[in-house]
Amino acid sequence: MNESAVFQDSRVAAPDSGDPPTIGVLALQGDVREHVAALDLCGAEPVLVRRPAELAAVDALVLPGGESTAISKLLEIFELLEPLRARLRDGMPAFGSCAGMILLADEVLDTRPDARHLSGIDMTVRRNAFGRQVDSFETDLDFAGLEGGPMRAVFIRAPWVERAGDGVEVLARVPGGPAAGRIVAVRQGSVLATAFHPEVTGDHRVHRMFVDLVRAR
Ligand code: GLN
Repeated sequence: MNESAVFQDSRVAAPDSGDPPTIGVLALQGDVREHVAALDLCGAEPVLVRRPAELAAVDALVLPGGESTAISKLLEIFELLEPLRARLRDGMPAFGSCAGMILLADEVLDTRPDARHLSGIDMTVRRNAFGRQVDSFETDLDFAGLEGGPMRAVFIRAPWVERAGDGVEVLARVPGGPAAGRIVAVRQGSVLATAFHPEVTGDHRVHRMFVDLVRAR
């Protein structure tokens, strides 16, 4: 990525000096490319993860938006489910958007009975909580810990967090409307999750926050 491309996005700082962290993007299904581009702009080295050996080689992992039940099934088929649970137990940083948030939960409501989850964050997530595909929407959110004003957030058949455990920091809530106050961004240690898609808006502050978190470890 050349420097002019980096500085076209005014809210992304210049890449830090030093070795870029290697951040995997789980590439079984979903909006993998958008996360790869955002991580690249934030000074990380993005790599695709489809096999246990690839998972073992990354410093951190992004779980993209897509369809959580399909990704769950593919995690089993590709024999990644247990290795991924183990890496999360060992403290690997992770960031999940939308379907990725659902996968990181330890309890999921309104999903298929055979769907599997990773227990990366002590939370209960309700899948498709805002309604059907036609109920997808955008709004401006206050996001704790991010400078530069509210963040435009795109919700596509999104979940919300129905219960956040004691160790979970709430980073953003829906500001108004029928779902006002619902939790849509959380962090527990170095695991981050958003119900919306920061990878699609060109505002890469959440990815930047994640890359900083990975660097800090
Ligand atoms: N509704 C999807 C699911 O259940 C998530 C949608 C998304 O990632 N945009 O996984």
